[in-house]
Amino acid sequence: MIREVQDEILRLKKEKDVCILAHSYQTPDITEIADFVGDSFALSKMAAGAENKNVLMCGVRFMAETAKILSPNKRVYLSHVDAGCPMAQQLSPESLAQMKAKEPDRVVVAYINTTAALKELCDVCVTSSSAVKIVSSLPEKKILFVPDCNLGRYVQKQCPDKDIKLYNGCCPIHNGASIEDVAIAKIRYPNALLLVHPECREEVCENADYIGSTSGIMQYAEKSDAKEFIIGTENSIIAHLQYKCPDKKFYHLSQRLVCTNMRLTTLYEVLSVLKTIGDSDNENEIIMTGEQIELSRKCIDKMLQLG
Ligand code: SF4
Repeated sequence: MIREVQDEILRLKKEKDVCILAHSYQTPDITEIADFVGDSFALSKMAAGAENKNVLMCGVRFMAETAKILSPNKRVYLSHVDAGCPMAQQLSPESLAQMKAKEPDRVVVAYINTTAALKELCDVCVTSSSAVKIVSSLPEKKILFVPDCNLGRYVQKQCPDKDIKLYNGCCPIHNGASIEDVAIAKIRYPNALLLVHPECREEVCENADYIGSTSGIMQYAEKSDAKEFIIGTENSIIAHLQYKCPDKKFYHLSQRLVCTNMRLTTLYEVLSVLKTIGDSDNENEIIMTGEQIELSRKCIDKMLQLG
């Protein structure tokens, strides 16, 4: 049955000229039919280089918005209309405007996991893999880092010469992994290396053998001579890793590392959205004005320039 749905998706994708992007946290039945699989910003760049007229992002809303910002002349769709990112929605543009008014001398550095509306007010964006490099290369010393305090704290430690003020946001999924989870996993799997995402809490990162983006974790595990790994990021990547490295063993750090928003997209959902591509008033389509795209693109361009 899955194979039949995948075949129909591939047929429609060709007929409707769609580039399908799947974030690494999507399930294997979806990544198998995608043109590109990866971290959110890498996907948006891939879509911008693709020749298709339409883009379907299997992920969450800020990712589809980023794809639209980088591909303003394409029609961009989100795989599930309710798939948001709780972290991206934690800080409103109004609250950020108030923070900026209180400390106008701070450069606002925004994690890419922010809404397009928030990006309009930020000076430069970062991804989890480029954050340290970009913050270090900024000439300014005083920085306001939004919205993820865990990633911000990780950057703070790597850039001690900077005065970084953190907003108190976080990814509720990664932040849910605790030091107790680390202790239990290390007892259960004493020979395994612990690989974690910098969205995890400070005390979890302090016990890790490697800290990096989802792509970074996957590359590290693939290249490492070690045979066992405890994975401290969204649990779906364990299936992808197990497929790529059948001779290695992968364990989850916590059963709670599951992003329910990412799980809203199913293979059937992908098929039903594909059927509606091209329809007018499509609720899955990302609609932004030229001005919104131009304003939110500035901090992404600055990231590309510095990164
Ligand atoms: S894992 Fe966290 S940061 Fe990623 S989409 Fe889910 S809530 Fe947002």
